[in-house]
Amino acid sequence: MESFEELNINRQLLNALADLGFEKPTPIQEEAYPVGMSGQNIVGIAQTGTGKTLAYMLPILHQLKYSKDYKPRVIILVPTRELVVQVVEQIELFTKYMSTRVLGVYGGVNIKTQMGALTQGQDIVVGTPGRLYDLAVNRSLLLQDVKKLVIDEVDVMLDLGFRFQLNNIFELLPDKRQNIMFSATMTEDVEILINENFIKPEFIAIALSGTPLDNIYQSCYPVANFYTKVNLLGHLLQDKETYQKILIFIDSKKNADRLYEAMEPDFWNELLVIHSNKSQNNRMAAIERFNDNNARILIATDVIARGLDLDDITHVINFDTPKFPENYMHRIGRTGRAEKMGHSILFYTEGEEDWKKEIEKMMEYDIPQLEFPNEVKVSKQLTLDEQPRIIEKNPHKKKTHIAGPSFHDKKDKNKKDYNLGGGQKIKIKKAKKYKNPISRGQKPKGKEK
Ligand code: AMP
Repeated sequence: MESFEELNINRQLLNALADLGFEKPTPIQEEAYPVGMSGQNIVGIAQTGTGKTLAYMLPILHQLKYSKDYKPRVIILVPTRELVVQVVEQIELFTKYMSTRVLGVYGGVNIKTQMGALTQGQDIVVGTPGRLYDLAVNRSLLLQDVKKLVIDEVDVMLDLGFRFQLNNIFELLPDKRQNIMFSATMTEDVEILINENFIKPEFIAIALSGTPLDNIYQSCYPVANFYTKVNLLGHLLQDKETYQKILIFIDSKKNADRLYEAMEPDFWNELLVIHSNKSQNNRMAAIERFNDNNARILIATDVIARGLDLDDITHVINFDTPKFPENYMHRIGRTGRAEKMGHSILFYTEGEEDWKKEIEKMMEYDIPQLEFPNEVKVSKQLTLDEQPRIIEKNPHKKKTHIAGPSFHDKKDKNKKDYNLGGGQKIKIKKAKKYKNPISRGQKPKGKEK
């Protein structure tokens, strides 16, 4: 699309966008606009920098009629106070030629001022879930006229533990409303939230534009289980000359801690771990040590790593295989920056193989496979998640269900493209054509073996 005019949005908006110097919609804006206008629920997978704020605001602002009513019609929930301020600022710019009333509310400041501002009447309220809920409970914020609910950065919000507040807010909102949700990463928690609250959402995703895939040597190893992955990782990381600055991605806080514990005996003085249960100070200190090259190895969860500014990563290690291909793209995009070749290594178990295939399908590229080194010990130890499950059919007859170490469920779930929201598939719009596949035999450079 060559200009915003093609979207048929109103003149006031067009003029405001022209003043901002925006020439044409970004891919996520183009994709989200018709769905937003249709009134359907939306789940957008996009990170900051893609123009996602305008993507959800354009259809909302185009449809928002002038009103004198004091009850807001649009609620936007974001995880942090900084983001409230940013989103309010952006909306004020977009509505420069409209008479739209926008208010930001967040905790840590006097609630009375915000209560006063609400009684004057607002069209759009942007807020963090805790404060917004408090205002709704004390009835300074009346939610019964809300037609649109936007939840931005849902992954971060859930990671910070806002699930409870979100559910509380849902309870107070009218059932008949449009839900628009944006998340940079897909996590199990996000998936649950969608399935529990969103009826038939339309999924929109944008492949990361400009991901320098050409700058990354990708490879993968088939590995039996968690503790064998630990052994393989330990084996690889002994080569300090090759593995100079390593970012290890892992799916959950629990597994991040488990991996840290397992690696600590051998790598204690060069190993760091960060996730959202660590204090802000602890996280900042870890990042500083890593960026100053005082520690070689950083373990991080997908959600926490998203906003980090990390330099010169030589290797990204995918300790697990992401269920959602976008997460893999985000992960490997952390290496191979600024003209430097990066390396990405993926560990996958039998149960994760289908997810690896999904990633390869999305990239149109088969990740070259490396042979599992003979000298690495295959562990028989299984994590609790990997252990065969006992299915109790009746209390007198216990039956052990063995389907490969615990992978049965995940594998079945993943047979479809994206098993979300009643079998909806995420539409992926490619912002960039990826590199052609190279043959499987072709080895990446470097000393991965
Ligand atoms: P966001 O992903 O919403 O954080 O937006 C990232 C940045 O892109 C913000 O500074 C926006 O003002 C800017 N932006 C959003 N849409 C466009 C557009 N269509 N053209 C140029 N810049 C844009």
